[in-house]
Formats: sequence, structure tokens, C-alpha cells
Amino acid sequence: MSIAIAIDGPAGAGKSTISKAAAKELGFIYIDTGALYRTVGLAASRRGVEPVEGAEVNSMLDEIKVELTFNENGEQVVLLDGEDVSGLIRTPEASMMASKISAVPAVRAFLLDLQRNMAKTDNVIMDGRDIGTVILPNAEIKIFLTASPEARAQRRYKELIEKGMDVKYEDILDDVKTRDYNDMHRDIAPLKQADDAVLADTTKLDLQESIELIVNIIKERS
Ligand code: C5P
Repeated sequence: MSIAIAIDGPAGAGKSTISKAAAKELGFIYIDTGALYRTVGLAASRRGVEPVEGAEVNSMLDEIKVELTFNENGEQVVLLDGEDVSGLIRTPEASMMASKISAVPAVRAFLLDLQRNMAKTDNVIMDGRDIGTVILPNAEIKIFLTASPEARAQRRYKELIEKGMDVKYEDILDDVKTRDYNDMHRDIAPLKQADDAVLADTTKLDLQESIELIVNIIKERS
């Protein structure tokens, strides 16, 4: 039987970096579910489809194909209609589009089986917003990974500046707060800590300490 570890939390808490490192150390497959919502968001942007519930989004979902694969280094690759869009979905605009379109119930339904099927056959660490509450409610270990909005904005700011993007800290902080609000207040699958999830707050921890915290939580419980 395969083991599933669900790591949920707000934007910029370091979920993907920490989960990826923990998965490597533990020999699990890492799945970043945010990439799937970003890909659907990208499809909508390209088609000029508004990220709101309705016929436009529904017919787009009938037409697009989203796939999750892995490259030779074991890194996740997302395909939109066969095209590798893994890099294109990493802009602040794509983040905001993903945050909006992920509130559409049909989008969540569209991506549900894809996520569940990944956890059926392999040992996975899956990160997202509703993995422990909706996608994998029976996950063996659930972690709610968070940090203050300011700490999260600071980290994302640094990341984007290092990538050469021209961004302002205040704009990133606003984005973080807006996405938190959107994620926590949507009607469907809102971001919240599952009752049986362990809370991990990384506000005062650096990356290495955060990875150790998560690996220790997992080791203690498996
Ligand atoms: O994790 P990431 O920032 O890449 O996610 C992009 C957006 O996708 C989030 O703002 C969130 O609204 C949405 N998302 C979601 N459920 C998930 C993963 C991401 O609603 N499981």
C-alpha cells in the first residue's frame, strides 16, 4: 500500500521547496498541485476566458488537457495540451489567475481525479490547499505549513528578484494577502487546517530548519 503525506498551507509558506526537499530525503514522489490550477489559469488567460463560474470556463475544461509528468531528474512537469508550461505558470499574473480560477467548482472537479490517481500507486508528498481536507482525507500524515504574511512576502520577493523580475515588496505583500483572503473565503474547498493536521509555523525558521521540522514530523509519525 502506498503512503500519502498531505502538506497544505497558504501561498508562499515554502510548501513546494520544503516538500520537495523532504520528498527527496524520504524517497517519496513530490506533487505540487498548485501547478495544476496555474495551468488551468494559463489556459483561461490565453483564451481570454474570465476566471468565474459559468459556461465559458466549462467549455474550456471540455477542450483542454492537463497532464502531470516527471522529467529525467524526477522533477514535475505540467503539460497543457501536450506543451510543457512548467516555466510559464510561475509569474505573479499566473499566481493571481490561479487563485481566482481555483474558486470555480468545475475547475476543482476537473482536477480531482488527476490528483487522487497520483496518490493511488506511489508514495507521495502532495502539497496544496485542500489535500488533507478534500483530496486525500485519509492521508497517513497531514501537515499545515504556514508563516506570517510578511515573512512569506519577503521570501517570494527575494525569489522573484533573484530570477531577475522587476517587482516591489509591497505589491508582493498585497498579493499574498489577497490570495490568502481568496483561498480562505471561497465557498468550495477553502484553505483551512484539517482537524488531524499538525501545525508547522516557519515564520522564524530558515529553509534548512523548516525542512528539518517537516522531516522530523514525518519521521515521528511513520
Ligand atoms: O501553491 P500555488 O501558489 O502554486 O497555488 C496557486 C493557486 O492555486 C493558489 O493561490 C490557490 O488558490 C490554488 N490552489 C488551490 N488548491 C490547491 C493548490 C493550489 O486552490 N490544492
